[in-house]
Amino acid sequence: KPPSIGSSLIPLINKLQDIVVPVGGELSKLSLPHVAVVGSQSSGKSSVLEALVGRDFLPRGCDICTRRPLALMLENRPPKPDGEGGSEWGQFRHLPGRRFYDFSKIRQEIQAETEREVGYNKGVSDKQICLKISSPNVLNMTLIDLPGITKVPVGDQPSDIETTIRRMIMAHICQPNCIILAVSPANSDLATSDALQIAKEADPIGSRTIGVITKLDIMDRGTNACMFLLGKVVPLRLGYVGVVNRSQEDINKNRSIQDALAYEEQFFHEHPVYNGLSDRCGIPQLAKKLNQILEQQIRTVLPGLKSDLNSHMVAVTNELRTYGEVTENKAEQGAILLNILSRYCQDFSAMVDGESQEMSTK
Ligand code: GDP
Ligand code: MG
Repeated sequence: KPPSIGSSLIPLINKLQDIVVPVGGELSKLSLPHVAVVGSQSSGKSSVLEALVGRDFLPRGCDICTRRPLALMLENRPPKPDGEGGSEWGQFRHLPGRRFYDFSKIRQEIQAETEREVGYNKGVSDKQICLKISSPNVLNMTLIDLPGITKVPVGDQPSDIETTIRRMIMAHICQPNCIILAVSPANSDLATSDALQIAKEADPIGSRTIGVITKLDIMDRGTNACMFLLGKVVPLRLGYVGVVNRSQEDINKNRSIQDALAYEEQFFHEHPVYNGLSDRCGIPQLAKKLNQILEQQIRTVLPGLKSDLNSHMVAVTNELRTYGEVTENKAEQGAILLNILSRYCQDFSAMVDGESQEMSTK
């Protein structure tokens, strides 16, 4: 089973939800951060997101594929009790009421909707596509797939394409609750990575940036990313994870995510250098790291949630007290009722006589 983000946290969040939801809208306090991927074009951003979600549905390729930001809202939904198919589906904001159960159709729709807005010829736009994925296997959170940084305009791209894309990326990753996955391909110069540069601009102290190094399988022979993974080239507080995603050939051959993950595991296991760095290699490790950060986030909001619940309880207890003593005894109940009624009558006549403006609520 693919290590989808947050799968280990789902039971915890569900339990909290059970406690908090009946009380009222406090759950908004439990809002989880969103995760955005940044990096140069074709560095493997979409591939990383897909592997984390564990489903095939994003356009990927060697050309510019992601041309509009895609906000991927994951929504946890318990499986249907009858166990019948169709408990996982996608729904676009621009196509309300239509559920996509076939994930390859989701990819086609992302492509079609991209083309509707920016045409066929490589144009980009910051108008985001919103896709909600409902599934029992995801945590409630938002992932954002962003267009890659490019330097040289191609096709219909205007000459200021680099500035446009950078601005689009910054708008997302400057938000303080955004976890940045800074994706750099291992087969290019890591020390000058666009991803790390832009992540540093948005998160100078590096408290919410994870370095992801893709394409470890296609580095120059005789080189490896060991020093980088260890943070000895560009230090990063939250560290690095190296991954191997599907190659273009794998995509053309429709290789499944499960297959690709098995291959990745074997690759790292057999590699003389990465074998010793197993806590920094592989999509499962990246998912684990993200889970730790999410857990931390939940821990940070828990005290506030607890004090909200406490003050709510105090208020409810006080309200309960105003309703008077509870008694099971029939005769006493009658006496109390009589008492209340006679007080009501007194108040009523006092009000009619103009002596008081208010009825007693005691
Ligand atoms: P994006 O533009 O950053 O979203 O990159 P994509 O996810 O679309 O990937 C770009 C290309 O690189 C695709 O052809 C992928 O198959 C390929 N690719 C991505 N990651 C890896 C990897 O780890 N190893 C190999 N061999 N190819 C990869
Ligand atoms: Mg992409």
